[in-house]
Amino acid sequence: MTQPFLVPDGTQVTLSDYDPGFTGDYRKKNETKADLKRNGKRLQELQEVLWAEGKHSLLIVLQAMDAGGKDGTIKHVMRGVNPQGCQVTSFKVPTEEELGHDFLWRIHKATPRRGYIGIFNRSHYEDVLVVRVNELVPENVWRARYEHINNFERLLVDSGVTILKFYLHISKDEQKERFHGRLDRPEKNWKFSPGDLDTRAQWGDYMAAFEDVFNKCNHPWAPWYIVPADHKWYRNLAISQIIVEALEKLDMRYPLPTVVKGRRPTPIQPIARRVETPARLRIAVSKAF
Ligand code: AMP
Ligand code: MG
Repeated sequence: MTQPFLVPDGTQVTLSDYDPGFTGDYRKKNETKADLKRNGKRLQELQEVLWAEGKHSLLIVLQAMDAGGKDGTIKHVMRGVNPQGCQVTSFKVPTEEELGHDFLWRIHKATPRRGYIGIFNRSHYEDVLVVRVNELVPENVWRARYEHINNFERLLVDSGVTILKFYLHISKDEQKERFHGRLDRPEKNWKFSPGDLDTRAQWGDYMAAFEDVFNKCNHPWAPWYIVPADHKWYRNLAISQIIVEALEKLDMRYPLPTVVKGRRPTPIQPIARRVETPARLRIAVSKAF
């Protein structure tokens, strides 16, 4: 089955080919509510067995332009997930100590241990995005990082980590709208930083840097998903669907209970119910972009 918004192996991505306002056969938020709710419930069940089995972990990487919806995605898609088995890490401008190490040092420490879901709000990809665009290190240094990233992610995958990387694709117009929203609403003012305008002025450079990321660091074992994100409700549904389907694929099982004297262990039960891709999302996918 086609994975929604998966960047197929070997694709040369040109971001202007991707429509940030895409909503498939969904017309408004209301139409996504039932599917989103069902995915939320299923995610809870899957997290429970992920935790109980303690064999795998899931790493969700979120990257986007400012106001692209990273915080909102975490808030809405991960709602209901048990905090005990979930860890969100937001990567900011590196500290002096972090800069004193290789760029993956702080990242590696934050990767989820077995049984956990880890969410990266920004990630090691900043080291080939903001760092590249603002020339924070010489070109030969950031150029070498794509291979370091590929090797690092391969190591994680070989150690039982499932990696899902999401680029929340918003248009420049939508970013403007969201910035205005942040300035107009007092309770949102804190989210706006003047530096965001500098980043906006470098939009084209960032698009080129993102395209290089997709072209150099996209692999079937650690894929990128380019998610249309101008409509928050569609973004949330698409991402929740992708996460649920990825966890389903792990075919996890509850472990055997500790044997009580005189009682036979309960056989391992596969998880019976599976979440189907909603027909409308499936249709959307085949027509995508
Ligand atoms: P925010 O996500 O709005 O809290 O902002 C975090 C800031 O940290 C952004 O401006 C990022 O570009 C910046 N940042 C994150 N990682 C790095 C990095 N490795 N090098 C430089 N700046 C970074
Ligand atoms: Mg910001």
